[in-house]
Amino acid sequence: MMSSRTLRWGLAVLALFAIVMAYQVLDLGRWLTLDQLKDSRDTLQGFYDADPWLTLAVFFGVYVLATASSFPGASILTLAAGALFGLGTGLVVVSFASSLGALLAFGVARTLLRDAVQARLGHFLAPINEGLAKDGVFYLLTLRLVPVFPFWLINLLMGLTQIGAKPFYLVSQIGMLPGTVVYVNAGTQLAAIESTADILSPALLGSLALLGLFPLIAKWGVSWWQKRKLYARWPRPRRFDRNLVVIGAGAGGLVTAYIAAAVKAKVTLIEGHKMGGDCLNYGCVPSKALIRSAKVVKQGRSAEAFGLRGAQGTVDFAVVMQRIHRVIRAIEPHDSVERYTGLGVEVMQGHARITSPWTVEVTLADGGTQVLTTRHIVIAAGASPFIPPIPGLKEAGFLTSDTVWGLTTLPRRLVVLGGGPIGCELAQSFARLGSEVTQVEMAPRLMGREDPEVSDLVAASLQADGVRVLTSHQAVRVEVTDGQKQLMVRHQGEERAVPFDELLCAVGRSPRVTGYGLEELGIPLTPRKTIETNAYLQTLYPNIYAVGDVAGPFQFTHTAAHQAWYAAVNALFGRFKQFKADYSVIPWATFTDPEVARVGLSETEAREKGIAFEVTRYGIDDLDRAIADGTAHGFVKVLTVPGKDRILGVTIVGEHAGDLLAEYVLAMKHGLGLNKILGTIHTYPTLSEANKYAAGEWKRAHAPQGVLAWLERFHAWERAH
Ligand SMILES: Cc1cc2nc3c(=O)[nH]c(=O)nc-3n(C[C@H](O)[C@H](O)[C@H](O)COP(=O)(O)OP(=O)(O)OC[C@H]3O[C@@H](n4cnc5c(N)ncnc54)[C@H](O)[C@@H]3O)c2cc1C
Repeated sequence: MMSSRTLRWGLAVLALFAIVMAYQVLDLGRWLTLDQLKDSRDTLQGFYDADPWLTLAVFFGVYVLATASSFPGASILTLAAGALFGLGTGLVVVSFASSLGALLAFGVARTLLRDAVQARLGHFLAPINEGLAKDGVFYLLTLRLVPVFPFWLINLLMGLTQIGAKPFYLVSQIGMLPGTVVYVNAGTQLAAIESTADILSPALLGSLALLGLFPLIAKWGVSWWQKRKLYARWPRPRRFDRNLVVIGAGAGGLVTAYIAAAVKAKVTLIEGHKMGGDCLNYGCVPSKALIRSAKVVKQGRSAEAFGLRGAQGTVDFAVVMQRIHRVIRAIEPHDSVERYTGLGVEVMQGHARITSPWTVEVTLADGGTQVLTTRHIVIAAGASPFIPPIPGLKEAGFLTSDTVWGLTTLPRRLVVLGGGPIGCELAQSFARLGSEVTQVEMAPRLMGREDPEVSDLVAASLQADGVRVLTSHQAVRVEVTDGQKQLMVRHQGEERAVPFDELLCAVGRSPRVTGYGLEELGIPLTPRKTIETNAYLQTLYPNIYAVGDVAGPFQFTHTAAHQAWYAAVNALFGRFKQFKADYSVIPWATFTDPEVARVGLSETEAREKGIAFEVTRYGIDDLDRAIADGTAHGFVKVLTVPGKDRILGVTIVGEHAGDLLAEYVLAMKHGLGLNKILGTIHTYPTLSEANKYAAGEWKRAHAPQGVLAWLERFHAWERAH
């Protein structure tokens, strides 16, 4: 017996066949061009004059058929309706025919062609489903008014959503009405073209201009209406004290405020804790200062190989920490209140809370409060260490990247929880300084974002420095017995204890999203708990922006600063032009020894995304300068488009990899290929030659073998003559 699915398919194919045949036999496509329409106008007009009702009925039928079957030409038919029937009658016929046709297409997609439409057009479905979930039928109305997707595509895709047939029909008819008026009206003007002079008539030009402007006007209208709805519950100040208020004086906030002041906007920067944010006080700066001390210790230990005896020394941890704080103090002036005040930024020290889309309340250090009114707000509130819910952890006490800089004595036994960049940098440093470090990571490898060979190299290097690396180990609880602390870890179903004196939590950083008004304003978060923003970095409220760690998707100082430019410019000049944040070339580095630096795709990512690539590798163990320096390890790995020198991604592992990467970042940003890198003089002997040699490897692999064979013959011939 034939299944209902097969029957439906049979019917659908039959219906489509009939429509296609009719389209071909009657040569309907012939009618659906503007030239044809103009040529046939008199004939059609003749039909209409002879039998208006029959002509209207046939036209209605053809229109319904064309839209129901998603054949192109609806706009020409709409113009034709204007030309033949005039504005009033044309509008009525087209409005009902197009809505009925849309409903039929919707029904066919829903009942007969669901799988086929899903397979062919399903990739368009996600934003439509998202829009419907968020705004309901208003979303369909928006789509009808502002045709982001073509008319026929909306009909088919809506058939796959949950929306009912009745609201679909009604909203479609209402939503398409303004566009229909504009098109039918333009059609009436086409009918009036009798001579070339008519083409320049104000009425025709006006109608055509309306045709072009309609989508823009509709878009503007819809966005105005959406904004009105969104802001309705917040009283708008009559005037604003400031152009911009920036919350948080870390990398994101500082750069935003800097740009705003540079273009003479009135900007207030509010910081609740320390100027400079995490990077200066708890992140990049202290960690790099610690890494430097640890490296000096390591160099002292291997100094004999360089001809220096007795350089081993002992580590004075208190001095190491004092140096770290000296480094912070030396950099502090760059981010200070004084510097920013001098640049024209009003800096306030206190806790900021957004009380409406235009007001920020500041609780000052002395307990007083001040309410600021502002046209725009940029949230740059950063992130704080994530504390995993491990039983016993809080009771036993733990360190984070916020508190580790307060240590004055070196922990004898240190557990580092987390195998990401921060965990690896700190584990290696403490091990070099003399702690017995155990690093615990739940995933099967360290630095999971990089390629497996990078993880292996980093793990081997950490182990060489004495770190006990426990991957695929899950931390289950912390126990304290007679003052002795131990972390219980589970590996392959078995538990074992890791005794420690201090435990450092480095398992990720949570965006700061509570306690300053996001909840009250209903500003949504992403599943990763960052503030949801659009490509212009606007939150739900278009005049409130978010940048840096609090916005994601990256958690780096340079990406926070990069986003800050977009937020500042979009906020201050968005009414003229807005810019989408560009994440196409984002570099980063992990400052383990050897360093790991990356820009663009890794091999793993390219495979996951199904992007074709070629890999070129150059081993730094072969580089003259690295051999002379005693740092001959690591590699440069370049992914390119097959057969071309266009760079898709680069990973460098080695001494100063973070600095070496800059050349590739520049190349990718400005579309320079490996040939250009190869054709650039690199100073001998420097580590930067590794970049050129990697390009050389690529060139060798792509040498034109045919030409070389001819050259060989040519040289042989020359030797013989
Ligand atoms: C150990 C460690 C090492 C790191 N190393 C590097 C590195 O080598 N390279 C790199 O690029 N990145 C590194 N990072 C990451 C880098 O520090 C962050 O990406 C960067 O600081 C993010 O800047 P931000 O402006 O988003 O937030 P933050 O720098 O965190 O600044 C946010 C500021 O907002 C303030 N704030 C929050 N809420 C309020 C409020 N309601 N009112 C007033 N003020 C408020 C906070 O007090 C804070 O000062 C490291 C991080 C850590 C922890």
